[in-house]
Amino acid sequence: MAAKIKRKDKVLVIAGEDRGVQGEVLRVLRKEDRVVVAGVNIVKKHQRPRPTGRSQVGGIIEFEAPIHISNVMLICPKCNQPTRVGFVVEAGGRKLRQCKRCKATFV
Ligand SMILES: [Zn+2]
Repeated sequence: MAAKIKRKDKVLVIAGEDRGVQGEVLRVLRKEDRVVVAGVNIVKKHQRPRPTGRSQVGGIIEFEAPIHISNVMLICPKCNQPTRVGFVVEAGGRKLRQCKRCKATFV
């Protein structure tokens, strides 16, 4: 199935603690149907310093944890509104995403 949400998309979080927050998609975990959104679902992890291998400092680090793809809505790059995503196939066979609001198509 083609992806409704891709890396670098702008999305709106519609459920959970970060509801209403907009951010850019940093990563898509397709197998898990999850996305990592900049500034959303920040978790803290206590990390020990590691003496060997990659240099790793100790302390509390914060990072974005993945959220389920159903908890975000794409913000249309054309009309700038949160929207559902449809698909259209061009004459040449290329599949494009389509904004259900303004009907604009984009990759
Ligand atoms: Zn639109």
